[in-house]
Amino acid sequence: PMAFNPGDYRNLGENWPAGKATYGLLTRAFILVDGTRSRITIVDTLVNLLRIMIELDPASLLPAVWLTTNDIGPPYENNELGIGSSIITKAITKTSGITPAALKKIYNKYGDPGDAAFEAKSKQRTLMMRKPTPLTIINVYNTLIKIAATSGKGSQDIKESYVKRLLVEAKGEEIRYLTRTLIQHLRIGAVKTTVLIALARAFSFSRPQNATWECPQIPREKDEQREHFARAEEILKQYFARRPNYNDLIPALLHGGVDALGEACRMAIHIPLKPMLGSITRDLEEMLVKLQDCDFTCEYKYDGQRAQIHCDEDGRVSIFSRHLELMTSKYPDLVALVPKIRGEYVTSFILEGEVVAVDAVTGELKPFQTLAGRERKHVDISNVSVTVCLFAFDLMYINGQELLSKPLRERRNLLRTKFVEIPHAFTWVKYMDATSSDSPTIREFFKSALSSKCEGIMVKALNYIPAPFPATMEEEQNTAKKPNKSNSRRKPLLATYEPDKRLESWLKVKKDYDSSADTLDLIPIGGWHGQGRKAKWWSPILLAVRNPTTGSLEAVCKCMSGFTDKHYAEMKKFYGEDGENTSKTKKGYYDSALTPKVWFEPKEVWEIAFADITLSPTYSAALGLVSQERGLSLRFPRFLRKREDKSIEEASTSEFLAGGPCWFFPLYLVVADNHRFI
Ligand code: ATP
Repeated sequence: PMAFNPGDYRNLGENWPAGKATYGLLTRAFILVDGTRSRITIVDTLVNLLRIMIELDPASLLPAVWLTTNDIGPPYENNELGIGSSIITKAITKTSGITPAALKKIYNKYGDPGDAAFEAKSKQRTLMMRKPTPLTIINVYNTLIKIAATSGKGSQDIKESYVKRLLVEAKGEEIRYLTRTLIQHLRIGAVKTTVLIALARAFSFSRPQNATWECPQIPREKDEQREHFARAEEILKQYFARRPNYNDLIPALLHGGVDALGEACRMAIHIPLKPMLGSITRDLEEMLVKLQDCDFTCEYKYDGQRAQIHCDEDGRVSIFSRHLELMTSKYPDLVALVPKIRGEYVTSFILEGEVVAVDAVTGELKPFQTLAGRERKHVDISNVSVTVCLFAFDLMYINGQELLSKPLRERRNLLRTKFVEIPHAFTWVKYMDATSSDSPTIREFFKSALSSKCEGIMVKALNYIPAPFPATMEEEQNTAKKPNKSNSRRKPLLATYEPDKRLESWLKVKKDYDSSADTLDLIPIGGWHGQGRKAKWWSPILLAVRNPTTGSLEAVCKCMSGFTDKHYAEMKKFYGEDGENTSKTKKGYYDSALTPKVWFEPKEVWEIAFADITLSPTYSAALGLVSQERGLSLRFPRFLRKREDKSIEEASTSEFLAGGPCWFFPLYLVVADNHRFI
């Protein structure tokens, strides 16, 4: 289909009563995005779609944004639609008249419920008894909200009837995308950051008809224009990092445009902010070079689960995960701890720390696997099976005051003086302040972290550190060419808390990095029957990276090392031969030239170590990013652990594979015939 132009729609004027933007319009955007790999086309399509909504039907903007991001609400609210394949199958067979057996056959052909529903319904067109009224964006979104809110006895039937109603009204291509939305796998590249960029642009050009504000003048010069848009994007990203919820962002934008966001951009208790992230360093040497002549602090890097704890003036507590999910009911023991840890002075706060499993008597740290044994929800406080201790490392808010712009030294001082330690339950991360000349002591500290079962250390700037002495022209050019050069730090280091940013002011030094191998978080998508002793298990396993632009999972390697027999057995149970987590049919969005014995449902993320990245004629991962003809693969992949804390959306991307690990490591891509190049 042709790209659409807001001008065409403006002429429709009165045909756009508020709230009536059709689902067909959204579908048109999905088709355009689906059919391209060009990021520019994706952004342009989204910008145009959003501009139409802003100018002609602002009420449909928020639902359209949610549907485009494949979500119905922020991660800390219940977003599960809970629609399994049986509901979809029943709804399709009942609305199209096709038999379940015929539907299964179509499904086996495509491996995608959306494609199957589309074909099933287009085959049965004559059965349609009445002319359907066009589906609106608002209607689809509101129905999804109702589906998510349905629970308890009889909920499956109620959900099915909602799904049926939607499928009856959907026509043509709408069916394909609606079905994918219902199973919460839209498969389009409108990933979250693209939507933010598109929103920033759209609001630079468009405003609602009755708006009391004006769009700022867009400069004529290309460079100035680029800066103008970059500034708008930065404002939106900053807002969204502090309040990651479109239900807040979109009304604020409609109300005052991008410029008004700056003032509205405040954190709030019980709304999680996106956490600040650490940058990888290869080893202590590299860290010391990076932070030459700086003051910094080294902290133990505990191996547990990150927790953001919010407490309001009434003492109400919320606990959020690294990925902003609400996990208060997982840690009732921490909730009960809050009144004891907040000193007299403290009324409200947001702090961050690592929850680690510990021995209840000695307080000795236990490995991550022990913590993974705790139930995820509704833990009974009188019967807690895994004792935990919270090791606090940051304070972002206290007594109504935001602390993000304060240097770490000041935040840490408040954290350590205003809260009360409770042995083996609440304490602070162990730390040592240092400069790069203290390297022998830092080495000792690193060793002591490892012997206390920590993963390594985090090294953080305590105060603002200006950029190093100006580089010579020649040095500047060299650095630009080789961004992985270890002494390439040229930017100042911020000691402020920067939500959602991975800066050099937080460095991770982990023990695994000493072995010159990095890790990737990959998705198991298929398996072969093992040989000999492993005949009853799956081995090797086919692993994939995620391509966020196309929504496909691209095969990257087979892995058969690092597994224990126990893990093999668990895996066979989870991915049973005819179980619900396996299938004989390849999914439409699996990109693999190899055909394993069974295909797995994409359910898990595994951390995989490897020795090298190689160009490969067999695997399609990152095809087109490094070479036009070959994909990338991993040499000597080795299973390290399941990443229970990561969802499929958080698995490593093809872009990261093509660019990411190589920046950090002196890794060469090894071509099959052993020619080496960077
Ligand atoms: P990332 O969270 O950086 O995307 P990741 O999930 O692979 O990457 P790691 O590489 O293990 O995580 O490192 C970051 C995590 O380390 C933090 O998210 C936090 O949970 C944990 N951590 C443990 N101790 C500390 C500490 N002292 N300061 C900051 N984070 C810490």
